This record gives sequence, structure tokens and C-alpha cells, in this order.
Amino acid sequence: MNSHGAPHDPYLVGLDLRGRRVVVVGAGTVVQRRLPVLLAAGADVHVIAPEATPAVEATPGIVWHRREYASGDLLGAWYALAATDDPAVNAAVVAEAEAARTFCVRADLAREGTAVTPATVATDGLQVGVLASGDHRRSAAVRDALRAVLTGDEAARPTHKPEGVALVGGGPGDPDLITVRGRALLGLADVVVADRLAPPRLLAELAPHVEVIDAAKVPYGRAMAQQAINRVLIDRAREGKFVVRLKGGDPYVFGRGFEELEALAAEGIPVTVVPGITSSIAAPSAAGIPVTHRGVTHEFVVVSGHVAPGHPDSLVDWDALGRLRGTVVVLMAVERLAAIAEALIAGGRPAETPAAVVENATTGGQRTVRGTLATIAADAAAASVVPPAVLVVGATAGFTAALGG
Ligand code: SAH
Repeated sequence: MNSHGAPHDPYLVGLDLRGRRVVVVGAGTVVQRRLPVLLAAGADVHVIAPEATPAVEATPGIVWHRREYASGDLLGAWYALAATDDPAVNAAVVAEAEAARTFCVRADLAREGTAVTPATVATDGLQVGVLASGDHRRSAAVRDALRAVLTGDEAARPTHKPEGVALVGGGPGDPDLITVRGRALLGLADVVVADRLAPPRLLAELAPHVEVIDAAKVPYGRAMAQQAINRVLIDRAREGKFVVRLKGGDPYVFGRGFEELEALAAEGIPVTVVPGITSSIAAPSAAGIPVTHRGVTHEFVVVSGHVAPGHPDSLVDWDALGRLRGTVVVLMAVERLAAIAEALIAGGRPAETPAAVVENATTGGQRTVRGTLATIAADAAAASVVPPAVLVVGATAGFTAALGG
């Protein structure tokens, strides 16, 4: 219990966290949702937890102290978040924060903390936070309605809750690049099963009662990971919950969306598919590279690079791709850039063809590396490009406009 007694209206404030130490204890799905927002505010984020969800683990820009919380961990913190699954630990963190006069959110028992996280919407340079005396469903509903008003978008206003599962394309990374329908359905979800590439800031907006399942962490025992994910979707839908399966980009572009649709259909579970903006088009576009251009390229081809050219499992005709004159966009290619470039050259594509690699497109971390088919693998390695990134090959990859990223 915080020392200030029963009913009170908290004081709403905007914290300038730039460069300031924020200590987060716990590394589960609640934390996974808060991290992108803390990082976007420029905070110096320290996560303390012996284990983390894969999404937390893969979050760039945090310092993860891989151990249990110990008294003294809040030293120097301006703000803290107690979000472990152990109430005793959360209570201890809050107690230390109280003694240190550090404001602290307690995720499991909001009233016991000295700060509460509002339901927020950020659009067009405006940030709105809603608190409803601990009634998270109400604050989320008001927030959703405000978003609809602020974006002038009546269609985004949630209506009745659909049944079954929605396979939603989350877009390439920027939370504003999900579709209006996708966002509205997300606002109605009881359960969200999210891929690592699903835009993390969309998860940050979910109300606390929403169960967020990290698809990369679904335990699969002897089953395949995909079967285990299908199982979770089916089980939650069977419990009468509305489930959003949130994927990066478009659910059907190398997203295994149709396998999930088939598994759900076989169980008689209704499925809604919401297309998404695929990174195969958005990543080049965000870097100032048009996938087509009148008089230059009359085709663009999207290819998976997840198996190397020449590998027995490869279903791609690299020789045929090498003969194309248009734009070739390769996903999941970072580790195999050299082999892919070689295969295209061997198929007849000139070695001096412009090529570009676009990393973390549409997010704050977007980078573009440009070169030619002959140099791009070395150029990307020199720049330490890591997934997610797309390779773009063709004349338009050499276009530079004032807006290029
Ligand atoms: N369904 C997704 C693609 C899934 S495959 C879509 O339509 O976008 C995963 C690959 O997508 C990554 O390896 C990378 O090549 C690409 N990708 C996804 N998000 C990206 C981003 N923000 N920037 C660059 N590439 C991205």
C-alpha cells in the first residue's frame, strides 16, 4: 500500500526521460510492451531479470542485467517499473523506490505503486494519456475512441467484438503503418499472439488485461513451433476469446499466414484476414527507392532468401531472376547476400547493377546501404547490417531523391 492512503486522483505529467536511468524489474510481456515507449522517450533503460522473452532479449538499446533483482538496484533511477510475476519481488521494488523517492509503477497491483501507466495514443505530434482509476478496460476504450476522433477515423472506432481469430498484418515497423481495420481489431483483442517483427509499439498500446503471447516463446515440446502456435490460437479461440495474430508486414508474404488459416478452418474457427503493408514494398519505399518507375522497370519480384541459391531446398530459379531487367527484392537475405548476388550475376544480371540494403525500415533505426551487385555483400558487412533488412536490386536501387533514408 502506498503511504498516501485511499482514493486519490493521480497527477498526470509528461516525464523527460532523455538520458535518464529507468530501472525495469522483470522482462515478460508487460515489459516487452513498455520498452519501445521508454526507448522512444530516450530513457537509459536497465532491465533486471534472470530470463527475458525473446522480444525483450532482442530489443536494441537496453541494458539487460541477467539476474534476480537485489536491493540497491534502483540506485540512480529516476523512474522504475516493477513487473515481475512474483508479487513479493514487485513489493520489494516498490518499497525500495518509495525509500529512494523514485516513482515506481507496479504492474500486478497498480494501486500499490507510486505511478501508473496511462492508456496512450500518439498521433501527429500529439500524445494523449488516459487514466480511469485503475479501470484499464475503460481507459483503453476511451483511448480508442479518442484515437478515432483524433485521426478523424470513424471506422477505427471499435464496435462489437468479432469472433475467432484475426490474422492481422502489422505493417513494416512504424506503428502508424498498420491498416485502420487492423488497428481497430487489435483494440478489441482479448489475446494477441505477436511475432518478433510485429511492430512493438502497437503492443505498448494494449490494455493490461490483454494477454500478449510472444510467438517465439510458445513452448513446443515435440511439436513444431508452427504447430504449437496454431494450438495456442485454437485453444484461446475455443475459450471464447477474440484472438489477434499479429504479424510483421502482410500475413501472407513469407508469414505462414495461410498455414494458420488452414489449421483454424479445420477446427471450424472463424478467421478474418487483414492485409498489411509488406516490408518488400515499404522498405524500399521508405529508403526513397521506388520498386517501379515508368520507362525503367516494368516488374518487381519478391523473393525469399532464407535458403541459399543452390541449396537442395531452394524453390527459386536464380538463373531466371538473373535475366530480369526489373527490380528484385529479397527478404531474409542478410546472411546470404554474397551467394545471392553471385547467383544473380551468374544468371546474367550485370555486376554493376545498383543494389541497396534497407535495415529496420520505417523505424527509428532505419539505415540504407547502397552499392552494386558486385559490392553490396561487402558494403553491408562493413556497415554491420543485421536482420531485418531487405535487399533491392535493379536500376531504381540507384535512385537518390532528397527524401532518401
Ligand atoms: N510478412 C513480412 C515478411 C516476413 S519475412 C512482410 O510482409 O513484410 C521477414 C523478413 O521481412 C525479414 O527478414 C526482412 O527481410 C523483412 N522485413 C520485415 N520487416 C522489415 C523492416 N522493418 N525492414 C527491413 N526488412 C524487413
